[in-house]
Amino acid sequence: MTPTDPLVRLRGLAKSFGRVEAVAPLNLDIQAGDFLAILGPSGCGKTTLLRMIGGFVEPSAGQIEIDGRDVTRLGPERRPTNMVFQGFGLFPHMTVRQNVGYGLRIAKVPATEIGARVAEALSLVRLEELADRSIDQLSGGQQQRVALARALVMRPAVLLLDEPLGALDLKLRQAMQEELRRIHRQTGGTFVFVTHDQGEALWLANRIAVMEAGRIVQEDSPEEIYARPATRFVSTFIGEANVLRGRRTDGHVMLEAGPAFAESGADGAVIAVVRPEKVRIDPVVGAADHRVEGEVIDLVYLGTHMRVELRLEGGVKLVAHDPDLSLRGRIEPGRMVAAGWSAADQRVIEDR
Ligand code: ATP
Repeated sequence: MTPTDPLVRLRGLAKSFGRVEAVAPLNLDIQAGDFLAILGPSGCGKTTLLRMIGGFVEPSAGQIEIDGRDVTRLGPERRPTNMVFQGFGLFPHMTVRQNVGYGLRIAKVPATEIGARVAEALSLVRLEELADRSIDQLSGGQQQRVALARALVMRPAVLLLDEPLGALDLKLRQAMQEELRRIHRQTGGTFVFVTHDQGEALWLANRIAVMEAGRIVQEDSPEEIYARPATRFVSTFIGEANVLRGRRTDGHVMLEAGPAFAESGADGAVIAVVRPEKVRIDPVVGAADHRVEGEVIDLVYLGTHMRVELRLEGGVKLVAHDPDLSLRGRIEPGRMVAAGWSAADQRVIEDR
């Protein structure tokens, strides 16, 4: 391995269950230190992909390399990975300390070292004080921390987390998201987690692999995925997006909502994706490259911005998040207003 080699390298990795192709052949590189989110809707193959990396599901095809070693045919216990399962999978009648030390005892690590490593892991998840409680006396959030400590104590090269916060209520989820970020920073480890929650992926990950129907449709930094979604699906799955339909002919794009502009690419159907926060209501003439007119359908004050929904020509919906709070006094539902955005803030995608 050279320093630029990925820690995890998946090549042509695929899994079918009978006739169901859960994961179509895919390639993915994960760098050491990454916090990667595998993000997608229910049933898109996220868990199957994670389980193949961990050795819990045998691939139908392809190869998994970790740290330069082919681990495709190795069982979970022989891989440098550790998995935190949905629902945690703790031993309910053992204490916290016994749960966390379990893997080390199985691996026949000397007792003194077990004591030190368990203490270190418990301190990392801030559970020192509960070390001698049994699991059935803990809250959901505390159990989640035990599950994390039990995986971290093994010092895996790659920590795999299957919907790690799925079982927690919203408040606890947010607190645990912060904890996970801190633990990732503190350990400098490589974390891969599965989620269907785009907010969670944006909040935690430095890389996001977006899955749709067994395929990774885009893999990039959260900033890139948000600013330059590769497909219509990605643009609407991550964040709110205006999706404006149009056609391209000889490098000339015409949107159904009105705007027309030059943009090279193949002839055929396209969509222009514009984020609501990039749309301005009543823009100063000349400030917006693309201008449209529409009827105000809805106007909501959201503290930091106004959310304005317009109906454009042909019934097309356009949403603006405009920081100009004075709009509240100036426009109202039923009125016709102008809206606009700059060409740099629009992404044109072929609409297959
Ligand atoms: P969720 O978010 O709902 O857990 P997911 O994106 O993790 O979904 P997977 O659990 O990986 O999706 O499932 C992908 C597809 O493979 C689904 O169609 C699922 O029904 C199917 N599948 C998964 N595991 C099995 C199995 N053991 N036997 C048969 N089909 C399976």
